[in-house]
Amino acid sequence: MAGTGVFEDIIEGEVFKYYTDGEWKKSASGKSVAIINPTTRTTQYKVQACTQEEVNKVIESSKIAQKQWAKTPLWKRAELLHKAAAILKEHKAPIAECLVKEIAKPAKDSVTEVVRSGDLISYCAEEGVRILGEGKFLVSDSFPGNERTKYCLTSKIPLGVVLAIPPFNYPVNLAVSKIGPALIAGNSLVLKPPTQGAVACLHMVHCFHLAGFPTGLISCVTGKGSEIGDFLTMHPGVNCISFTGGDTGIAISKKAGMVPLQMELGGKDACIVLEDADLDLVAANIIKGGFSYSGQRCTAVKVILVMESVADALVEKVNARVAKLKVGPPEEDSDITPVVSESSANFIEGLAKDAKEKGATFCQEYKREGNLIWPLLLDNVRPDMRIAWEEPFGPILPVIRINSVEEGIHHCNASNFGLQGCIFTKDINKAILISDAMETGTVQINSAPARGPDHFPFQGLKDSGIGSQGITNSINMMTKIKSTVINLPSPSYTMG
Ligand code: NAP
Repeated sequence: MAGTGVFEDIIEGEVFKYYTDGEWKKSASGKSVAIINPTTRTTQYKVQACTQEEVNKVIESSKIAQKQWAKTPLWKRAELLHKAAAILKEHKAPIAECLVKEIAKPAKDSVTEVVRSGDLISYCAEEGVRILGEGKFLVSDSFPGNERTKYCLTSKIPLGVVLAIPPFNYPVNLAVSKIGPALIAGNSLVLKPPTQGAVACLHMVHCFHLAGFPTGLISCVTGKGSEIGDFLTMHPGVNCISFTGGDTGIAISKKAGMVPLQMELGGKDACIVLEDADLDLVAANIIKGGFSYSGQRCTAVKVILVMESVADALVEKVNARVAKLKVGPPEEDSDITPVVSESSANFIEGLAKDAKEKGATFCQEYKREGNLIWPLLLDNVRPDMRIAWEEPFGPILPVIRINSVEEGIHHCNASNFGLQGCIFTKDINKAILISDAMETGTVQINSAPARGPDHFPFQGLKDSGIGSQGITNSINMMTKIKSTVINLPSPSYTMG
């Protein structure tokens, strides 16, 4: 159970503590933030509302710890990460329980998230040992006008203090996708977890504590993003920000100082379906891509662009599968569970109402109880409807009928997002041409968009992000190149 057994140190009374200097502490604010269970809509847990002074102290300790960590041999850093991964997997049950209660993630998927996170940490350790263990050797005479008098040695050095801010939908996985690369590269890390998902993150951080990482190297400050977020992201002690979330990321990128930014933001992933597509395969992928975790995924299919000639057949196949989705609480492993908050449910409802008023065809009856919204396919959606462009982050999915491939590409590229997209066709030549024309960070051919496997590059164009994730890219992003140039008194040619 959450907060018991090896985790008993992380809670006092009914409030979970924050983590700094290798210890679990209560905030001097005396205030806490409630985490509302999306299913019961009552307070499930409470976390500390950390103060600005506490943030200052955390970053100070983080700076000191990083200096020592950067001198720790790479193999030793990797060893500790492997240990943390094993401890995390060993304690998957209580962490998954938190995910069920905090974000209403189906029970089995919650366990999968924790196990995948352990694997991600181990992969970071292995990849780090490989890519950080080598640098470059350059000679000067390849550039015009130079003799071979300069030898340049490059290596990758850490940035310092990395601030990690993940979103609610994969709080553990998207936290470790920042923590693993940061630590193996020799940085220290300050985590600000999402409020919904904070308790799962605190348990995850305790697994790093149990693994024996040096004091101060990892910290976790809790509190509402709207209250401590700006203070953290604009803090002069922070040397890198890795953020995943919604439009908040755009605001952060405008306010942050001159530090490297890794931003993974929203998406409106299009699914383009051509006449020759295998419609059963498409329907299965639309269900998986559009409705898993109730559509609360950055890479969820968020608009279907289907050729008119096969639209009726596809809609029928998708509807047959929607009818089989199990709707209910996450504890029962339902396919569709309550969305994260009442405001989120209200937003989704607003999009459905707007589409109704403008004439979309509702393939199912709109139904909502509390935060639970039944899956809904909206056919005959037109570009003047909000749902054609906005990210619902819920179980409602628009279908736009198109008369040409160009129309589909045009709709995809007119979006301010550019995360992923997918194409269904048996013609690989057409698929490649369409993929090249789509302004998105990734295009999947004959499968729904997806963020994994976690070592694949993952990036968004336009308002969907800055930089690229994926384990290798994240490690590289959290380092800087350092050069040392040896200047020789006279040209020296190997074997010359
Ligand atoms: P969000 O509202 O942007 O919140 C993300 C994180 O930012 C949370 O930890 C939040 O803390 C924090 N935050 C809020 N205000 C802040 C501020 N002023 N400064 C710093 N941090 C602040 O996003 P969300 O609702 O959790 O997640 C859904 C969004 O994430 C969707 O748009 C989805 O597409 C996107 N997403 C993108 C990816 C990707 O890789 N591209 C992956 C997953 C999700 P609090 O919870 O305390 O407010």
